[in-house]
Amino acid sequence: MISIQVKQLTKRFGNVVALHGLDLTINPGELFFLLGPSGCGKTTLLRSLAGFYIPEEGQILFGNEDVTKLEPHKRNTGMMFQSYALWPHMTVAENVAFGLHERKVPATEVRRRVDEALSSVRMEQYADRRPNQLSGGQQQRIALARALVIRPRCLLLDEPLSNLDAKLRLEMRTEIRRVCKEFQLTTVYVTHDQKEALSIADRMAILESGYILQVGTPREVYKRPTRKTVANFIGETDFLTGKVLGMVGNYVTVETEVGKFDGVFGDPVNIPAVGATVTVSIRPECWELHRDAEPRNFVRGRIGDSIYLGEVAQYDFVTHNGVKLKIFERNPRFVDSSQRGELYAAVAPEDVVVLTA
Ligand code: ATP
Repeated sequence: MISIQVKQLTKRFGNVVALHGLDLTINPGELFFLLGPSGCGKTTLLRSLAGFYIPEEGQILFGNEDVTKLEPHKRNTGMMFQSYALWPHMTVAENVAFGLHERKVPATEVRRRVDEALSSVRMEQYADRRPNQLSGGQQQRIALARALVIRPRCLLLDEPLSNLDAKLRLEMRTEIRRVCKEFQLTTVYVTHDQKEALSIADRMAILESGYILQVGTPREVYKRPTRKTVANFIGETDFLTGKVLGMVGNYVTVETEVGKFDGVFGDPVNIPAVGATVTVSIRPECWELHRDAEPRNFVRGRIGDSIYLGEVAQYDFVTHNGVKLKIFERNPRFVDSSQRGELYAAVAPEDVVVLTA
């Protein structure tokens, strides 16, 4: 298992600065995700790790080895792409063996390692088929086996599941995590799919315009975004504008356009002063609806439009002063219009995240 360290990494394409002096450490054996809006630099960072791009400034270390300028084939990384990139004229076994032949591994060893790789992705019975005789999910498993068979130092995955249908994506994401953990591989995974990242990542980085905005576990990033852009990018949220009134124990009290709330700072380092204008982020599922007023952190209003989705209902909650909030209610009660009327939406202070920007 190796760590991957990125130090002050800058990559330019002409006048475009795709990565601005990035610093990042990925721990040995970690399944690490790169997330962010289109054009934020995810692919550029992944391709720099693979050696397809040489950065203008900075360093990349695999363990203690500086690989910044090393050619791709000497880095011993396992790559898996969105397009499976399997050779159509070769069998499954030949596709998997390809990288071993290139490395001049002896034939008996090739056979043993191909069998082992196919069995690790549960595809040993398909060794003699050609790629066009396999489903999309099976082809993706073969692409994973091909990446694993060379015993890479780390695995680099570029949107590996985006060509699969929703059900297969669910199945394959758990498979990828299982295989990464079984092989104890440090893995960097680029995706557009937040659910993929939230469900299987050990940690993730959120990028924007070539900068890293936040690094953390899925829970940290979802529950405690440090910036408005992160809160907005991951999951759904309502933003309220507020002013800091003061601190009460571990909580900050904020006056917002719908009333006073106690909350927590998203960024524990850059704490806004009393009187500062802030943004408050509250996730729709954090609200609870009640018939009566709560002791604190509530707002009075009525349900407007609603969507019933079985296990959850999504409401437009219109506050007493006309502000619209999204509220999700699990095991919905208030979806029945006879249950409505004036209601109180309450939220725990831990779920009121106060942000400076
Ligand atoms: P997406 O989610 O759309 O794949 P991304 O986050 O992977 O986007 P990158 O492909 O890394 O983004 O691109 C980062 C920035 O660098 C973008 O502004 C992009 O236009 C630019 N860029 C990427 N590759 C090149 C290139 N070969 N030549 C010029 N500019 C490039």
